[in-house]
Amino acid sequence: MKELLERKQGLHRTILIVDDEYIERAMLGAMLSDSYTVIYAENGIKALDVIKREKQMLSLVILDLHMPLLDGYGLLEIMRSDGELRRIPVIVLTSETEAEVKSLRLGATDFIMKPYNMPDVVKARVNHAIELAEDSIIIHETERDALTGLFNKEFFFEYGKRLDHQNDGMPMDALVLDVNRFHIVNELYGRQYGDHILKRLGNSIHDLVQYTGGLACRFNNNCFYIYLPHDDDLLQKLPGYIRDINEYLDDRKITVRIGVYSDDGSGLDMDHRFDRARLACRKLRDTYSTRFVLYNAELHNKELHAERLINDMDMALSEKQFKVYYQPKYDITGEKPVMRSAEALVRWVHPEFGMISPGEFISLFENNGLIQLLDRYVWNEAAQQIREWKDSYGILLPVSVNVSRVDIFDPELGDLLCDIAERNGLLPEALLLEITESAYTNNSQQIIDTISSLRGRGFRIEMDDFGCGYSSLNMLTSLPIDALKLDMNFIRNICTDKKAYRLVGIMIEIARLLEVPVIAEGVESKEQMELLRELGCDIIQGYYFSRPLPPEEFEKLFTAEGEKI
Ligand code: C2E
Ligand code: CA
Repeated sequence: MKELLERKQGLHRTILIVDDEYIERAMLGAMLSDSYTVIYAENGIKALDVIKREKQMLSLVILDLHMPLLDGYGLLEIMRSDGELRRIPVIVLTSETEAEVKSLRLGATDFIMKPYNMPDVVKARVNHAIELAEDSIIIHETERDALTGLFNKEFFFEYGKRLDHQNDGMPMDALVLDVNRFHIVNELYGRQYGDHILKRLGNSIHDLVQYTGGLACRFNNNCFYIYLPHDDDLLQKLPGYIRDINEYLDDRKITVRIGVYSDDGSGLDMDHRFDRARLACRKLRDTYSTRFVLYNAELHNKELHAERLINDMDMALSEKQFKVYYQPKYDITGEKPVMRSAEALVRWVHPEFGMISPGEFISLFENNGLIQLLDRYVWNEAAQQIREWKDSYGILLPVSVNVSRVDIFDPELGDLLCDIAERNGLLPEALLLEITESAYTNNSQQIIDTISSLRGRGFRIEMDDFGCGYSSLNMLTSLPIDALKLDMNFIRNICTDKKAYRLVGIMIEIARLLEVPVIAEGVESKEQMELLRELGCDIIQGYYFSRPLPPEEFEKLFTAEGEKI
């Protein structure tokens, strides 16, 4: 790590010399100014001002003990009792040996005897004091990640920001590196193996920053932040870096992805650079062909748009800009298809952007918990709608609502749903709950418990997007569910791709094994429907029967097909 510090190209450390004698200041300054940036103060009060202002960039204070106003002892005492100033090393200047003990006791790092007749000794002491202070910070255990030996995120940001101050706008690139599907690595091969992979990654990243003169940390679990002096050729070099990293990890085809913010001279601070790199990295989630992506204007606009949607959300809820559409689900096990239920799908009629599809905002709201508000709104709307249709048409059509992962961790979920059903005079079974398969794989036991309790209260659960969530067969058998909903990506090619057809067949077999009905969504043609029927699929949802419709249009299905329900 020491070499790392020494390698930092262009890194200038700043020293403050505090002495009331001009000539003394000038002499010391002359000795040090070729290696350091030197600033001055002529008494303790002024020095304290400078220290407070420049605390981020100060590497050392050289302090005369005898000065008017506030003397060296006084200043030293103030610095040592201040949590932030304490880290700055202080060398005292003195001509009396008795003063040494007192100043060392007050927390001085070292002392230099006046007069300074040996510049090399002065320089060596200064250098030593700075190194000592920096090393002691760096090797401080709590500032390192125990697993990888890289910085932890707090220190990474503290040191990175100091670096930025000291180097006054030296261009720096930010990289965010993530391991693809790391939770699966842990789940399949065990935590110990996961740790082993993270250690190896830590080593590769350590080598990379040694080579480039940057710094890195493990930001969380499987995510690493890397801060490098700007390199115009970074994008050309990245494939090589990634190849090296991946090769080193290769035993089980584990791969990484990297989001990059390349310094464009816009003077962003470190936090914002990493926000952008993280955004770029998020864009790569679940893609395998691309290994890195650069933050650019398009991404920036998307980010602004996303920010805007998040800001507008509250108002949209109170103004009822969210509209719930309904898409019917048909039972195809009999001779004629029969509408059995519908799915509630939300749309946002935004005053400025017009109709926005949930694909654009659901994941945004999932990232910050807003989804809970929206889901509650949709559940309420759906329950009222069921009630209304019951009252107007005498038909009790169960409606399925999407329950997002975040909702499941809400301990009030069961009470809330019961309350919604009750207030609309419905039994819980009128609301079907669609829960995405991937929710089950994350924190399985807690989710299984929550879902069991919901079923215990009378709600029926449909596992959404089945086939995408990587449930193990073993786990599936213990899952509390009432229906499996095949992910529409599997349906898309069943007419043309034999493998896709067989795969759907296998998934339907699994549903048989679990003794639950199968719902296929995204069914667009008669051929697809016929094949699914052959394979034993029970329920169909898709454009073939109907797109999601606003309630007033959906109602027409009752009169057209009332007899089928
Ligand atoms: P999902 O639950 O998988 O919903 C099915 C999506 O497929 C819907 O997209 C639907 O309009 C679309 N779809 C239905 N039939 C067909 C078809 O034949 N062909 C094609 N190509 N697409 C079809 P939509 O409405 O855009 O919703 C997207 C996703 O947003 C939903 O996927 C669901 O995960 C989420 N979502 C929608 N409403 C809500 C909500 O109120 N709460 C939560 N948490 N998520 C919601
Ligand atoms: Ca759904």
